[in-house]
This record gives sequence, C-alpha cells and structure tokens, in this order.
Amino acid sequence: MTADLLKAKIRHVPDFPKPGILFYDITTLLRDPAGLGLALDAMAAPYTDAQVDLVVGMESRGFIFGAALADRLKAGFVPVRKPGKLPSRCLSVSYDLEYGSDSLEIHADAIEAGQRVLIVDDLLATGGTARATIDLVSGLGAEIVACAFLVELTFLKGRARLGTTPVHAVLPYD
Ligand code: IMP
Repeated sequence: MTADLLKAKIRHVPDFPKPGILFYDITTLLRDPAGLGLALDAMAAPYTDAQVDLVVGMESRGFIFGAALADRLKAGFVPVRKPGKLPSRCLSVSYDLEYGSDSLEIHADAIEAGQRVLIVDDLLATGGTARATIDLVSGLGAEIVACAFLVELTFLKGRARLGTTPVHAVLPYD
C-alpha cells in the first residue's frame, strides 16, 4: 500500500531540533525518485479537476512540494516566507508559537481576488503555520480550495485550527 511505502521512506530523528521532539525528516523520501513521485501523485490526486489557479507553499519545505504540485496542476506558485525575505510590498501575519511568536509574509500583489488557491506544506503539526497562511491568502481575497500536506501529526490536532478549510493529508500519524 502506497501510504506504508511512503511512511517507510520518512526518517524519524529523536531530539531534533531540541530534546523531546521527534522530527519527521522527509529528505530521505525526497532523495528517492520513486518515493518522491508517489508522494506528489498522492498529494495532487484530489485536486486534478479542482481548477486550482495558484499553489501557495510555505518556507521552506512547502516550496519543494508546492512548486512540484503547481506544475502538475498547471497552476502558478506563490511563496509564503519568513519576515524580511520577500523584496516587494508584503502582507504580514503573526502567529503564536509554544514560546513566543513568529510571522509570515506574502507579496501583496501575488494573488488576485477570487483566484482559486491550494495551500501546500510538507507537514501539519499544531496548525499555526497553516492558520497564518490561510489568513494571508484570504486577506488577499482568494478562494481557498484546501490545505494539502504530505504528513499530518493528528495527535497535535492542528486541523482544529484551520476552521472550515478542507484539509487533506496523505500520511496521518496517530
Ligand atoms: P505547525 O505550524 O506547528 O503546524 O508546524 C508545521 C511547520 O513546521 C511546517 O512548515 C513544517 O515544515 C514544520 N515542522 C514541524 N514539525 C516538523 C517535523 O517533524 N518534520 C518536518 N517539518 C516539521
């Protein structure tokens, strides 16, 4: 089964980036040509007829899957980045972390009102990153088709922070 095959290619690294965190390392999947293709097929499948205009991907692993999915869906790609990285005028949104806060930015002219957007990242954990991206994208007047992830850590209940936005994850971990 594809999901088991893909899960077997994701490396689990204990105590990264700090003690007590189990990190799901997708670089071991990315370097596998068959695995990468299968992951992209599974992420794209629900949206092949969804008339997606733009894929929005979050820095930095969302760029990898997002740009490849955009190409498959015949859509454009828009990056959401950490503060100070995008060169033109930006819309910015802050969100809470376990300790402190962070923010994300998108170019103010990156999306036209009414464009159909698919939000893509490698992994859904607490949902803070995806929530902030939904706020940025809807702040520009887009229609959000869904959020698509390769991995979802379901026990962190990130989905609950995403409101009514449809969510699809290829590999849920309970
Ligand atoms: P959230 O905002 O808590 O949902 O965290 C999701 C963001 O953090 C995504 O952009 C992920 O790339 C990154 N992230 C969190 N945990 C992991 C992990 O275990 N492996 C890879 N990326 C992670």
